[in-house]
Amino acid sequence: MPADLDHGTRAPLVTGAPHPQSARDLLVDKVVAIDAELVELTRPVEDPGSIQFGKRAGDATNVAAEQLARVATHEQLSALRDDVRRAIAKCDDGSYGRCDTCQGPIGDARLEALPWATRCVRCQAARPAVRRRG
Ligand SMILES: [Zn+2]
Repeated sequence: MPADLDHGTRAPLVTGAPHPQSARDLLVDKVVAIDAELVELTRPVEDPGSIQFGKRAGDATNVAAEQLARVATHEQLSALRDDVRRAIAKCDDGSYGRCDTCQGPIGDARLEALPWATRCVRCQAARPAVRRRG
């Protein structure tokens, strides 16, 4: 009696990584969340109710520092949003889970941890931190 190889039942090969369709939902949610954060960040720091000019000399400095921190966060969030949008596009064109650089698999564990990853660990690490020429 041959062993039952249970052909016919097609279990998904991908276990850890999200399915592209559910990943897409997740990524869309992520973009919405990032957009909301960006809106928060672009609000003026100055709150007329909390800052009184002439009260303390340090206030203006604190506001400037806060502004700088917001700019940095804003840049990080914008970059992240670009990644997430790229990952959504990959869901749509069927290349989700494949590295943008080497076309190899990004890896289930990496996608599970970072659903918007568009490069495999190797390509991400090898990505040169060069400045754009010109
Ligand atoms: Zn790669």
